[in-house]
Amino acid sequence: MIINLRIDNFNMDSQEYSADLSKEKSIAITLLPNDKQPNHFGAPACTSKTLEMGSYIGDTKRGGSCNANVLTMIPHCNGTHTESVSHIIDELIPVYQSIEKSVFPSVLISLLPEPSLKTKDSYIPFMDESNQVITQAQLNEKLSEYSDEQLQGLIVRTLDNDNNNNRDKKTRVYDNEHYPPFFTNDAMKYLVKRKINHLLVDFPSVDKMYDDGKLSNHRLFWNIVEDEKKTNDQSTVNKTITEMVFIDDEIEDGIYLCNLQIPEINTDAVPSRPILYPLTEMNKT
Ligand SMILES: [Zn+2]
Repeated sequence: MIINLRIDNFNMDSQEYSADLSKEKSIAITLLPNDKQPNHFGAPACTSKTLEMGSYIGDTKRGGSCNANVLTMIPHCNGTHTESVSHIIDELIPVYQSIEKSVFPSVLISLLPEPSLKTKDSYIPFMDESNQVITQAQLNEKLSEYSDEQLQGLIVRTLDNDNNNNRDKKTRVYDNEHYPPFFTNDAMKYLVKRKINHLLVDFPSVDKMYDDGKLSNHRLFWNIVEDEKKTNDQSTVNKTITEMVFIDDEIEDGIYLCNLQIPEINTDAVPSRPILYPLTEMNKT
């Protein structure tokens, strides 16, 4: 039986789109426990070990009836993950409750981060001379052609993808030699103004790696007051940030339907698997 894997008559800005569900592309990094994996902040790596309880061994190669492993991970530091506002406040609003619709239109853009000295944008607490940043002007240039409706999700690929061996973002250890790029505060204010609900980036944090714990961009994104650890009336708790995605070179910039797949775990960050489906404009004249 052939199933038509398309969503037709998908409307956005009075334009009809068709989404081809047979052409899905994952932009998650495959997480390899006990193996090479990306790492942020010097945190312990993701590991997997056999469950052993009494006479039970969760390993068929060692005579066990089935396999069962104990996974240890730090979602924020071990690979592709999605986080909620609870990353920076006391109250727990788990990621699965923050995502009202797990499928949404998204725009994918590619940018070459700029030396911090080149921009007049600001950042709290400060930018180091060696930092590479994404500026408001860069975002404005790429996103002015898209409507707010198309920009329910934004996926940012930093260039280039393969600058040190093939695909090294999949296993990159972020440290002073591989200091990750981040948004200026002006860039983040622009994204807030454009009402981006779900922000996905291929670097490990929207903030500077060593930022004195300010997390100023995270605070701007969810509208949490500086140094506060609670929401206010203006906070936007139904937004998410996904960090350390990997967008293969073959995936072109443009509009997609994004399906943000996550497990339902009561916590502030979970490993995630964003899937992109190409969107085609129908009856384009
Ligand atoms: Zn994170």
